[in-house]
Amino acid sequence: MTVLEDLFAGNARAMASGKAAPQPAERRPVAAVLACTDERVVPQAIFDQPPGKLYMVRVAGNVMTPEIAGSLELGVDRLGCRLIVVLGHTDCTAVRMSREDGWYEGSAFDIARRIRTSTNHLKSDAPLEDLVRANVEGAIRDLRDMSRILRDLESNGRVAIAGAVYDIATGRVSLS
Ligand SMILES: [Zn+2]
Repeated sequence: MTVLEDLFAGNARAMASGKAAPQPAERRPVAAVLACTDERVVPQAIFDQPPGKLYMVRVAGNVMTPEIAGSLELGVDRLGCRLIVVLGHTDCTAVRMSREDGWYEGSAFDIARRIRTSTNHLKSDAPLEDLVRANVEGAIRDLRDMSRILRDLESNGRVAIAGAVYDIATGRVSLS
């Protein structure tokens, strides 16, 4: 069975069990989460939230771009999320590779550049966890720079923005 066939077999199982379409028509997410693309990071499981509660935005290295900021604006301004969590994680491949000179090819260049901008105040031998935290803080700074809408909503108390790091080994999330 190919991977694609395996996924479609899974869809058939999920349809049969009702898991494939569990959503009510009305969208009411309570929090927007920007997470890395790392498949080991599963925010619904990490925060023990059912489908429909977390508005998910994902990009390698949980960096901020205009498109990501716009997606978060949609989640907050249109869908009513009262909280944005920028969720970094330990053992982040994108953050680690941003320090390696070879990773500047193709479209990944812009991701590495953004991570480097957030972390270049740290020493070259800084622990990866320090880089991860600095990268989360940099993404939040960039979000406030890029989005006047979210900046205004935050200063009016209509949305809170939190940075956090998920420890892949223990499962614990700590505020950054
Ligand atoms: Zn990652």
